[in-house]
Amino acid sequence: MPYRHLLSELDLGFTKLRNRVVMGSMHTGLEDRFWHYPALAEYYRERAKGGVGLIITGGISPNREGWLLPFGGTLNSVFDLHNHRRLTKAVHDEGGKIALQILHAGRYGYHPFVVSASAIRSPISKFTPKALTEAGIERTVRAYAKTARLAQRAGYDGVEIMGSEGYLLNQFLCLRTNHRTDRYGGSIANRMRLALAVVRRVREACGDRFIVIYRLSLIDLVEGGNTWDETIQVAGALEAAGVTLINTGIGWHEARVPTIVTSVPRAAFAPLTARLRAAVTIPVIASNRINTPELAETLIAQGSADLVSMARPLLADPQFVVKASEGRADEINTCIACNQACLDHTFRNERASCLVNPRAARETELVYRPTRRTLALAVVGAGPAGLSAACVAAARGHRVTLFDANTTIGGQFNLAKRIPGKEEFAETLRYFGAQLRKYGVDVHLCTRVDAARLDKERFDEIIVATGIVPRRPSIPGIDGANVLSYVEVLHGAPVGRTVAVIGAGGIGFDISEFLLHRAGDPQPQPREAWLDAWRVDLTVATPGGLAPAAPAPQPERRIWLLQRKKGKLGAGLGKTSGWVHRATLVRHGVKMLDGVTYLEIGPGGLKIERDGLQQWLEVDTIVVCAGQESLRDLVPTTPRSGGPRFHVIGGAALATELDAERAIREGAELAAKL
Ligand code: FAD
Ligand code: NAP
Ligand code: SF4
Repeated sequence: MPYRHLLSELDLGFTKLRNRVVMGSMHTGLEDRFWHYPALAEYYRERAKGGVGLIITGGISPNREGWLLPFGGTLNSVFDLHNHRRLTKAVHDEGGKIALQILHAGRYGYHPFVVSASAIRSPISKFTPKALTEAGIERTVRAYAKTARLAQRAGYDGVEIMGSEGYLLNQFLCLRTNHRTDRYGGSIANRMRLALAVVRRVREACGDRFIVIYRLSLIDLVEGGNTWDETIQVAGALEAAGVTLINTGIGWHEARVPTIVTSVPRAAFAPLTARLRAAVTIPVIASNRINTPELAETLIAQGSADLVSMARPLLADPQFVVKASEGRADEINTCIACNQACLDHTFRNERASCLVNPRAARETELVYRPTRRTLALAVVGAGPAGLSAACVAAARGHRVTLFDANTTIGGQFNLAKRIPGKEEFAETLRYFGAQLRKYGVDVHLCTRVDAARLDKERFDEIIVATGIVPRRPSIPGIDGANVLSYVEVLHGAPVGRTVAVIGAGGIGFDISEFLLHRAGDPQPQPREAWLDAWRVDLTVATPGGLAPAAPAPQPERRIWLLQRKKGKLGAGLGKTSGWVHRATLVRHGVKMLDGVTYLEIGPGGLKIERDGLQQWLEVDTIVVCAGQESLRDLVPTTPRSGGPRFHVIGGAALATELDAERAIREGAELAAKL
C-alpha cells in the first residue's frame, strides 16, 4: 500500500480515524452567516469524500467577547444546532469525522468587546482588551464547555480548543501578555490554569467518548513567549486533564517570523512536534508547510508525529488522500503556499478560495459538469489561464488542442519558479502536465499560432490565453546595452554588481530577491540556513524561541528598487507575504526609493529625480519590471461570420492587476460554461 503509515487507521480507544490526515482549521468566511452553511456543508463533503481522516472546522467563538470579527460564527445556542448538523451530516455521509474548532480570539478580536489576560493591546489590532476578572474567566470557561456540549449534540466527533497562534489561551500562557498577579498570573502553573480549566470542563461536559484536541503553541516566536520547558509542562498537564490529541501551533500572528508562506522550507517546524511526541503519551499532530503525501508519510514513518495536519493542501485538492491512496500522487494539485486566495482573502474580509483550485469554497457555484455537446476547442497559450481552461474543458469532455510558442507549458510560471523561495510554483506545472495527459489534451509546443492557422483548422471555439508582453517605458536610453527586462534576467543574462530595478510590483521585488543570490545557490534554501536567517531557535531555550540576530549577510549585489508613486514600496503585495519580501530585501541592504522620476539612462547608470533633486544612480545594470501589456493580436477586430467564437482570458484579456489567481479562475470559469 502506498503511504502505509499515513493511510493507516488510528485507534483512539473509543473511536477510530480512518487515516492520519487531518484537515487543519481554515476560516473560509462561510462559517459566519447561517445562510452559507449549505455551501459550507458541500465544501466539507468534498473533502470527506476525498478521504481525509479528520476535518477541523474554521474557528467558532464560544461567546461574543471571543469573536475575531463582529458577528462571527457561533455555536452557543440550541438555535445554532440545525446549521451545524448540516456540516456533520455531510461529513459522516462520506465516512469522515469532524471536530469543531473553538477559538476565542482574546486581544486579536477586531471589535470593542475584546478581553485578554491583561489590558495590553496587540500590535495588530487597534482595540485594547479589558483584563478578564475572575468572574469573567469563570464565564469564559462555562462558555467553552457549553459550546463543546452543543457541538456534541450537533454531531461533531470532537472539538479542537485553539490554544496557539497568540489567541486568548496563548495570551494567558505567556508573560508577554499575562501580567496578572492573581492565581492566573506569575508562575507557569498559574498561567496554564485557564487552559486546564477549559479542557477539564469540556471533558466533563462531553464525557470520555469525545475527541478533545488542544492546539498548543510549540514556539511562540515573539519576545516574552514560553520556553520549551514551560511548553512541555503545559503539554503534560493538558494530557493529565483529558486531552485526546495535541496539535502543533507555530508562532503568534504578530510574530515577525514567517511560518507558512512559500519561502518557509517544507516541514520546517516538524522537529518540535517530534520533541513533543517524546514527552507525552497521547498522539500528536504535525503542521505547517507540509503539502505532499511523501513528506507526511516520512514524518509519521520516522516517528516525528502520529498525524499530519494539512489545511491549505486540502483547500487546493479535496482529493489529496484518495489520489495518494490510489497511487496517483502526481495528480495532486499541490498547495504552493502563496496565501493569495486563502489567507489574503480572509484578511481582506473576503471569502477564502485557492489560487490553484478556484472551486475551493465555491463548490456549489463553480461546477464542472460533463458536456452534452463535444466541441473542438483551441486554446492558444499554455500559461496558467490557458492550462486551467484546457484542463477543465477536456475533463468535461471537450476535444481540446493546446498551443504554446514555448518549449514547455507554464507561461510566466516558468519564470516565477526560478525565484528563490518560489520553487513550489513548479508543482502547479507538474499538476497541469498530469491533467493534460489524463484528459488527452492535444498539446503542440514550440508552435506560435497565427490567425491563418486558426482559420485553417476549423475549431468551434478559440480561447486566446496568450498572456502579456513586458512594458518598456519610454525613458531616453532604454535601448542601451546595460538595460535588461526581467525576462532576460531570469533567462540568465549577465547582471553587474550594482543594479537599479525600475518598478516595485511583485516582479520588481522578486527580481531583487533573485539578484541577491549567487547563481547556483541551492534551491530551496536549506532549513538550517533559513532558521538562522529568521532567528528561529528550535531548541526554544529562550522565551519564544528567538535566537540573537545573526550578522547582516554580505549581499551579492548592491540594489536600488524604485517606484514612481509616493508611499511604501510593496504596499500592493499580499498582506500575509508582502512583509516577508520587504524584510528580506531590507536585511540584505536593498535601497528602496519612492517618488522617483526616471530622467535618462546612460552608460554610467540611471538618472533620476526625487524630491526636486536630480542624481545619477551609478549602476552597472538597469532591470525593467514596469508591468505588462496584453498580447491579444490573435483576436480578430471583426469576427468572420460563421467562424469560431473567440474568448480571451488571463493576461491577454487584461494585463492590469493580473495575477495567477485571476488567470486560473478565468480559465476555469470559462471552461465550465462552454
Ligand atoms: P502567461 O503566463 O503569460 O502565458 C501566456 C502563454 O501564451 C505563454 O506561454 C506564451 O508562450 C504563449 N503564447 C503567446 N502568444 C502565443 C501564440 N501566438 N501562439 C502560441 N503561444 C503563445 N502571479 C501570482 O499570482 N503570484 C506570484 O507569486 C507570481 N509571481 C510571479 C513571478 C514572476 C517572476 C513572474 C514573471 C510572474 C509572476 N506572477 C505571479 C504572474 C503570473 O505568472 C501571471 O499572472 C500568469 O502567468 C498569467 O497567466 P496567463 O496564462 O494569462 O499568461
Ligand atoms: P505590477 O504589480 O503592476 O507592478 C508594476 C510596477 O511598475 C509598479 O511598481 C509601477 O509602479 C511600475 N510602472 C508601471 N508603469 C510604469 C512605467 N510606464 N514606467 C515605469 N514604471 C512603471 O506588475 P508586476 O510587478 O509586473 O507583476 C505582474 C503581476 O504578477 C502582478 O499583478 C502581481 O500581482 C503578480 N505577482 C505577484 C507576486 C506575489 O508575490 N504575489 C509576485 C510577482 C508577481 P509606479 O507606476 O509607481 O512606478
Ligand atoms: Fe495554497 Fe495558495 Fe491555494 Fe492558499 S491559495 S491554499 S496557499 S495554493
